[in-house]
Parts: sequence; C-alpha cells; structure tokens
Amino acid sequence: MLDFLGNLERTHLCGELRAAHAGQQVVLMGWVNRRRDHGNLIFLDLRDRSGISQIVLDKELTPDGHLKGELVRPEYVVAAVGKVRLRDKDAINPKMPTGEIEIEATELLVLNDTRLAPFSPAEDAIQNEEVRLKYRYVDLRRAEMQRNFRLRHDITLAIRESLSRQGFLEIETPILTKSTPEGARDFLVPSRIHPGEFYALPQSPQILKQILMISGFDRYFQIARCFRDEDLRADRQLEFTQVDLEMSFARQESVFAVVEQFLAAGFAAADVALPTPFPRLTYDESMRRFGSDKPDLRLPGLADVRSAFSDENLIALQIDPALPVVAFRIPNVGELSRKEREDNHPLFDLKKGAKFIDDFKRLAKGFPEAAVKVRELAGAVEADFVLIVAGDPAHHIKASDTKFEGRLSEREINVYSAAGSFRTELAKKYADRHGAFNITEAVIHPDRPIGGEAMAGVFPFNPIWVVDFPMFEYDLITAKWVPAHHPFTSPHEADMANLVSDPASVRANCYDLAMNGLELGSGSIRIHRKDVQRQIFQSLGISDEEARARFGFFLEALEYGAPPHGGIALGLDRIVMLLAGASSLREVIAFPKSAKAIDLMADAPTTVTEQQLRELHIRVALRS
Ligand code: ASP
Repeated sequence: MLDFLGNLERTHLCGELRAAHAGQQVVLMGWVNRRRDHGNLIFLDLRDRSGISQIVLDKELTPDGHLKGELVRPEYVVAAVGKVRLRDKDAINPKMPTGEIEIEATELLVLNDTRLAPFSPAEDAIQNEEVRLKYRYVDLRRAEMQRNFRLRHDITLAIRESLSRQGFLEIETPILTKSTPEGARDFLVPSRIHPGEFYALPQSPQILKQILMISGFDRYFQIARCFRDEDLRADRQLEFTQVDLEMSFARQESVFAVVEQFLAAGFAAADVALPTPFPRLTYDESMRRFGSDKPDLRLPGLADVRSAFSDENLIALQIDPALPVVAFRIPNVGELSRKEREDNHPLFDLKKGAKFIDDFKRLAKGFPEAAVKVRELAGAVEADFVLIVAGDPAHHIKASDTKFEGRLSEREINVYSAAGSFRTELAKKYADRHGAFNITEAVIHPDRPIGGEAMAGVFPFNPIWVVDFPMFEYDLITAKWVPAHHPFTSPHEADMANLVSDPASVRANCYDLAMNGLELGSGSIRIHRKDVQRQIFQSLGISDEEARARFGFFLEALEYGAPPHGGIALGLDRIVMLLAGASSLREVIAFPKSAKAIDLMADAPTTVTEQQLRELHIRVALRS
C-alpha cells in the first residue's frame, strides 16, 4: 500500500503557507498530526518542523486520495499534492499561523506507515520521562522540543558569530587526551595500542586552550564538549557543552566585555534584551546578601537582623551571638500552619551548624520588640513569610576559625549559605504564591498565560558577576586548605606573599557568572609563570614529581614564552535551558542520559564482548 516518492519535490514547509498563497499549487510532506473523518471529507493536519497545515481530502475530487485518507493514521508519513485555498470564514483558526488556509488535495501519497508509538507527539505533556527518552525520536517531534532545538541553534550561531566578530578563532581540541583537573572524576578510554594505558576524556579543554595562548593564537574559542563522571542532576549531565574561550594579555575586564557581548547576542537571538554591563558582587558580598555564590536576584535577599536582638535575647533563643543572624522573606506566602512549616523543615541544611526560626508568632510572644524589628529590617509587609537563620551553638561543626580583616570566616559563610539554600528551596516551593519567577516565564512564552500574578519591578534575567573568590577552601575531612578552583587560577598579585603562610587570606583572580540562581560559567586569569605555577602546586600539596607526571607537558610549555592570559567557559546547555524556560538540561539536549546516567534509547552503557575486552587488555572483575 505504500507509495514511492518518485520525482515528487516538496514545494513548501507545512508551517509557511498563508492567505497570500491561495490559488497556488503546492506539494507538502510530513507526518499526520491528527486525522478527522467527516465521511466524504477527511481532514489531515500535516506536520513538519515548521508547523502544521490542514489537508482536505474530498471524495469527489480525489477518490483515491480519500481512500488512502481513510487508512492513514497519526504519524504516518505522507505527501499531499493540491491547491491552497482560503478557508470558509467560520472554519478560520486564529490560533494557527496557517489557520486561514487549507490544502485542497488532488493526490495523497503514503510514504510510510508507523507502529503505534506509546505516546503522541501531537499531545503537549507526557508525564513519563523514561518513555520519552526511550522513544526520543518520537518525543523530539513535539512542537516544544522542535522549538527548543531551533532556539539552541539560533543561540549557538549568534554566540559563534559574536565571538568571531570579536576576533576569536574557533579551534578544536582532542577528545582523547589526558586528565584535566576540574575536580570531577575522569572518563577513561583504554588504549589498545598501549596495553594498560588510558586516555582521559577532557573535563574541559583548560590546559589545551592555555597552550593555544602559548602558541600565539591570541583569542581562541570552542563550542566544546566536556565530560565529567559525576552524579547527575537536573542541571548536570555526564557530557555537556561549554562556550569555552581564552584570550592573551587579558585582564578580568577584557574577559567580562567579551562575555557580555556574546551573551547579549545569544539572548537577542531568543528575543531577550540583556542590558550590559552586568552588575558585580564580590564573593563575600554575595554570601552576605544572598547566602550563595550564584544568587537569584528575582527575590529579596538576606537582611542582617543581628541588631534586632540583645545579647540576652540571643542567649535565650540559643543563638550564637558571634555569628551572623539573618532574615529573609518570601513575598505573598502568608502565614503558614504548623504542619506546613514542618513540611519545609527537611529543606533546611542542618550540616552547616545553623538553625532557623520560622514560627514568627511564637517569637513575637516571647520577644515582641525583636520580632517587629526583624520584619522591619527585612522590609517585610504583612503577607510576607519571614524566617530567621542564625548560628547554632549547640551544633558546633568543624570549620576553620581563621578570620581576616574584612573577610568572612568559614563559619560565617556556613550560616549564610544555610540561609541562602533555604531561601532558594522555599522560593521554588512557593513560586506560585510570590510570582517572582513568572516574569521570566512571561518573557520566554509571551503566548502563554502566566500562572498567577507577575511580581512588579523584577527583571526576568539577572546576570551577575561574582568576583574575588577565596583561593582556597578549608576541607573539613582532611583539615587542609584545598584549592577552590582548578590549579591554573592565578592568585591576586597583592596576596601572593601569603600563599603558604596564610592560605585563607588569598583571593583568587577568578570570576563566576550567575543568572537566576544558576551558575552559568566560571573563569580566571591564569598563572603564566612557571615559578608561580610551581609555588601553587606546592601550596596545594602537589609534589614536583606528581606535577610532572600529571601536567609535565604543560609546565614545560610554560617555559617557552607564555603570555599573560585568561578566559572563561559558559555552560551552553544551561543558557539554552534558561531561555527555553525548561526545568532540566534534558529538555535541551537531543539525546541526554537519564537521571540514572543511562541512554535509554541506545541502551548504554552495556557489556561488551570478550573479544573487545581482550583487544583492550582488560578483564572485568565485578565486586559483588
Ligand atoms: N575550564 C574551566 C571550567 O570548565 C573554565 C575556565 O576556567 O575557563 O570550569
């Protein structure tokens, strides 16, 4: 029953026909989205990536086409030959771009049939994600997915063009390479030719892009695939794509200017205006004001409410008076019942040595003045739900007490970050009530009604540079200062003298770009001198020998006239996810892994044959 395509040429895409095409002879090809049988008339909604056109099969006009129309089912692949005509007034569908016309078919070719898929791409929402991933080819036919990948293409192209205009050369770096220290586990590839030896897949092109600077390329970029063997999350996949760049003789300001330009271009491709320059916060400020180094500026931040309490108050409330006492408000949540409050308690991170007060009524009974003052300092109005987070003296966690003039101590950071993550979790939970995220939705989907009211005075997308990170973090388990970034990050020149004596005081010459609570990217000015690089390795406890084994080639390259340089990498998938209004990276990656790290469509990973293993000199010994 299937027809051959023969010499038939498609004349238009299904989504592009308008009233102005009326009278034209056309050939459309695509998938049957829906079929309606009205006896002598059969209507097919024919779909391709551009949209949908309505085909009319009239028994009188095309008995053969009508007969085939009786047999076709949704997702059959067909070609319709016919004439565009204006629909009757009462049949016009203003919701469809092609809603003013239809195709009066003279011929229908059935190019392929289909098995019944477990869901229809004509439907909007499919709950079971595993099924979507297994039948990804069907899932990707859905209008929403087609839109996401069109968006991804447009954004990527705009970024590429912007970087090229700014003098960057796109250079590819290898996938089979050596370990890059980005802090995740490597994916290893056994070498057949060199028994017992392994390549690593790049966690990023970090070392290679620095070498490209030593090679005189001046400005490099790559839409680079990176591989990190980590546990998956909604915003994390085993392999992901970075807009990776590096520039010679760069200072922080030069990197910022480049990024602001290409990101604005990428957003413009999605019809979103991103005003530049982006605001900045130091890491300490960001922690103080948002309890996070990737702050979401759409909601009010943390308020310092220490002054609302006397020392006696704090002792009575069993709060550590030496640590920060902060409050935050979630607008429009109103008062919560005890049960509702208790349901929120698991969202608080207890491992930070902090506690919270969420029963304001009770606080107001015992400490009426303090309660009023807290609400005032937090800028709260009646309908706002207010919480206090403070240090818990009864829960003394191990942390460094080292404190430098004007800088936050580890303990303080812990209290702020407990408050910050509680704020973010509650903001997510009560998104419908506060409406602060609706504004973003409204910009992304101007065609959709937003769920609830949008909060006034909130920007939909809030890029923010976070600068002046500490160079080292205190690792509680090993009780050592460990690098907070990859080891090629340069310290502030002014802090160099303290590298070994006072590691906690050293600021890194690095920066993050955050937006709406997501880390979009990070970068740094690099170490370009071998003496400094060696010193950093030493301070990180990496011996000369280890450094030589792991990065010998790079240390050697640094000896051949390395220019000062710096760069950054931004997560492309995350950028697209934000602009698509998606809740997971899987919505903007064509063939992602499931949350359990499985490619459900291709069924990977799998075992391999004995023969393959033998060739690779590998024997598998499963631990039971
Ligand atoms: N390679 C770094 C990363 O993947 C980015 C950079 O420092 O340029 O996070």
